[in-house]
Amino acid sequence: MTEISTITLYQIDRNRKSVAFVNCPDTDEDIQKSCTASDTAKIYSFDEILNQLEIFRDNFFEFENLLDRMTENISKGREDNDNVLTAAENFRTAHSDNLFAVYYSEILLKYYNQGRQKINTLLGTFRNATTRNHYTQQQKDSLTEILSEIRNAVNDEWNFDFNTKKDTHLIRRTSNLIIIRGENLNQVWNIADDSLLNFYLDFSYAVKRLDVSVLRCPYCNKHYLGTESSSCCEKSECKSACAKSKRHAYENQTYVHERKAFKGYIRTKRNFLKNAVHNDSEIMQKFNDKADSFYAPVDELLIEYMDGNKPIDKTFTDLYQSQEKKLLAFMHQLIADWKEKHNI
Ligand SMILES: [Zn+2]
Repeated sequence: MTEISTITLYQIDRNRKSVAFVNCPDTDEDIQKSCTASDTAKIYSFDEILNQLEIFRDNFFEFENLLDRMTENISKGREDNDNVLTAAENFRTAHSDNLFAVYYSEILLKYYNQGRQKINTLLGTFRNATTRNHYTQQQKDSLTEILSEIRNAVNDEWNFDFNTKKDTHLIRRTSNLIIIRGENLNQVWNIADDSLLNFYLDFSYAVKRLDVSVLRCPYCNKHYLGTESSSCCEKSECKSACAKSKRHAYENQTYVHERKAFKGYIRTKRNFLKNAVHNDSEIMQKFNDKADSFYAPVDELLIEYMDGNKPIDKTFTDLYQSQEKKLLAFMHQLIADWKEKHNI
């Protein structure tokens, strides 16, 4: 019996600023039943999507590590000795409230399992070594291609830069639609691709057409969609806090900017280190374990300033710069450690 795979569909509702997701077995009957039932779809507001994406992408180094290990096991034809399957399942469990973490870990588990099974079958099918190598290589290539598509989709800032003012570039994607039409019924659903790139592009387009920008709420610190004149998100507690002090809200943008800038610095150094040490997992783990601790004193002072509605001053910038320097020194130390380990 062949296993029926599942399919993920989405529908973007610009008027309600929400996205409906349906995940069901990939048969016409199941799709029709799931899409037309009133309670099957999971509905997320645009704001929730933005926040879940941000959380997922901030934890992406963990996910990327899974991608790396899977790619390596597949390309080298290794068994799952390093328990990457367990790691992927743990990742899914740890982030089970995050739509993207769940979606991608399931995709990874599916392809990784299927791919290894297919390769094993092929190895047992052909006697001739050249033919065997040819077919197993094809299988390895198609798997590593899927993994790298996911990596690129999540890594490319352009996909998440909804209000881009940067250079223009063109992207060609095939879009798959499912249409369900009947009496009083006319639905169009998009089929999510493995990397979710189509979804990111559709979502970005919907955001753009609403003529809103991605802003960060200075009260709950979460992303929301608003216009230039909005000062906070739609949550009632944020609205009342905002009403109390418009000025406070304005100042807060500065603090949020500082916070984002430091996080950005950490991200840049992580990428630099990753290249320098050829993504050595032990070194990267050391960096990931400690990187946020350099930001902690900056955050502490920021909160103090924020509470006292105090403008950014030299004391703050001095501390900020010294923490940046410490992080940089730490990164160089890790590179030196790595070189020593490899006698370079
Ligand atoms: Zn808010």
